[in-house]
Amino acid sequence: ALQVPDKTVDSVCPYCGVGCQLTYHVKDNTLIAVSGRDGPANHGRLCVKGRYGFDYVRHPQRLTVPLVRREGVPKRADETLDPARWQEVFREATWDEALDLAAAGWLRIRDRHGPRALAGFGSAKGSNEEAYLFQKLVRTGFRSHNVDHCTRLCHASSVAALLEGIGSAAVSNPVMDVMQAELVIVIGANPSVNHPVAATWIKNAVREGTRLVLCDPRHSELARHAWRHLAFKPDTDVALLNALLHVIVTEGLVDEAFIAGRTEGFEALREHVQGYSPEAMAPLCGIEAGVIREVGRAYATSRASMILWGMGVSQHVHGTDNARCLIALALATGQIGRPGTGLHPLRGQNNVQGASDAGLIPMMLPDYQRVTDPGARAKFERLWGVPLDDRPGLTVVEVMNAALAGEIRGMYIMGENPAMSDPDVNHARQALAALDHLVVQDIFLTETAALADVVLPASAFPEKTGTFTNTDRTVQLGRQALEPPGQARQDLWIIQALAQRLGLPWRYTDVSEVFDEMRHSMPSIAGITWERLQREHAVAYPCTQEGAPGQPVVFTERFPTPSGRGRFVPADIVPAAERPDADYPWVLITGRQLEHWHTGSMTRRSRVLDAIEPDPVALIHPLDLEALGARPGEVITLQSRRGEVSLYARADESIPRGAVFVAFCYYEAAANRLTNPALDPVAKIPELKYCAVRVRVG
Ligand code: SF4
Repeated sequence: ALQVPDKTVDSVCPYCGVGCQLTYHVKDNTLIAVSGRDGPANHGRLCVKGRYGFDYVRHPQRLTVPLVRREGVPKRADETLDPARWQEVFREATWDEALDLAAAGWLRIRDRHGPRALAGFGSAKGSNEEAYLFQKLVRTGFRSHNVDHCTRLCHASSVAALLEGIGSAAVSNPVMDVMQAELVIVIGANPSVNHPVAATWIKNAVREGTRLVLCDPRHSELARHAWRHLAFKPDTDVALLNALLHVIVTEGLVDEAFIAGRTEGFEALREHVQGYSPEAMAPLCGIEAGVIREVGRAYATSRASMILWGMGVSQHVHGTDNARCLIALALATGQIGRPGTGLHPLRGQNNVQGASDAGLIPMMLPDYQRVTDPGARAKFERLWGVPLDDRPGLTVVEVMNAALAGEIRGMYIMGENPAMSDPDVNHARQALAALDHLVVQDIFLTETAALADVVLPASAFPEKTGTFTNTDRTVQLGRQALEPPGQARQDLWIIQALAQRLGLPWRYTDVSEVFDEMRHSMPSIAGITWERLQREHAVAYPCTQEGAPGQPVVFTERFPTPSGRGRFVPADIVPAAERPDADYPWVLITGRQLEHWHTGSMTRRSRVLDAIEPDPVALIHPLDLEALGARPGEVITLQSRRGEVSLYARADESIPRGAVFVAFCYYEAAANRLTNPALDPVAKIPELKYCAVRVRVG
């Protein structure tokens, strides 16, 4: 029978960074449907995840009571705990007992081994307020800056290059600006899968006459809409991008006035790219010189050109260099600071932008105020009433290494699943198992929670109110539609209860009080009031004064660097840390698939999505599959120097020859058992997009 909702609640999508606004339809404290509404990023559109990925919130495996590890049950790094068997490892506890145990364990470690023996991973799935309180707890309760989150695994290199080059890590223009662009470059991104509603705007722009240049080794769905598809060889981004710069510089296509008035360091770039002619780079990147010249000319001379990129750019040991080249393209041609131009690193998680803004990173306080800056520290010491460490903390992979080395002994992990998402997860799981004290706050007994000492049942997205900042820098209000099940509590309540047990005198009674504290310490959102968000639902920052309209397009007159100018930083070709060889001859590319989100903890528990994609698959070119002697649907095993996984082979002509693609959402075939933890030296982002594997049938 047709279900009629008791109520509807306006909120935002919990999945990707596009930040589609939606409406929850609720009956008897259960979501029965989701519909799109007229938000600035989606105008009523939703993808399959936003529309059907909601019933995970009432999945029978939801955590509904605090859990404590049973005495004497060891932590095994190879634990693959079936959530239905949780009683074998954990026992139920009261909230008071669980919170007391959690805090006492951290205090014991802090007293014996010092503040830097503790670390916290917050979540890009939580609200801005949760991210802010989480990092505040780590900095003032643990008293170190060992706080990070999944931004380290996604756009850390883009952030490093953008801060260095133009003084701000956020996007310059919203996705919707593709509708005003004459030419759009999409590089290292597969928006049809990862940012599906954004992809629809790109396709709409193409229909209106925008020329799309897709730079991607994969022949992804967007290639059908592209004016030119540059299917360059994996790992040759800098060769291709420097060749484009070479064309623009040597053919006199630069914007001399923009370079003179708004940039610095151009002469070094001009000199540097001389050696990167398209003819020299063509054999390396696999793109004909003539095509490179054609695209370079078109990008430079169009009325408005825009660049969007994803993890294919950032997740390399040369991720920062890749982004430096993209920034140089925009600066050399003046294709930034106007509608339809600019640089847009597509954010993955729904709140990875906001969590980073709120300070969930080890080297920056909220609003990217450096922990090494005495003035910034003094400001937050006054606000928080606690002295702050003057040394930056460790990043995600560094924390794992330190845990395995016995230097990090206790952790707090909220809403992240490093046992699935870190590179070389066998290593990550050993590190988590080696901790003296691990507290995990989540909605399911994830692979990470299975290694915890204390598990705290948290709230799902539709069970809380808070702000979320999408890839466009738009702060949006998510509203509570449901009550959490059983004894599960709201994350803000849990963080505060833990902070109080660490001796912090926190007394927040409402989420709006946390937001108020944030905006008074974060100039970029100072003008956004809670009342305005309730009224308008969305405001783009920077918004420094109350009543100011917000700024979808930035850098119109100057860059927020000390000199006000953008800076060119030349980049050399650096090969991947692990190239294919005779022993491991295939390239492994990891990523996501349309129906499943990240480590799969939500979407694999959403009935419709799981029904569409129920099994782990490896995508491989049909000719490669034939050469292996395998048929589609057969099991193949991928092995790297770090581990192996077995999954079903799926023939896919979009995959370049010699490569295999695996999404990292399948716990039974975790792609990150294979990936390489080698880091970009600047941003410390691991090379999740490229490593060497061997493939066998069976
Ligand atoms: Fe949600 Fe992203 Fe899909 Fe929009 S495009 S509905 S934000 S997953």
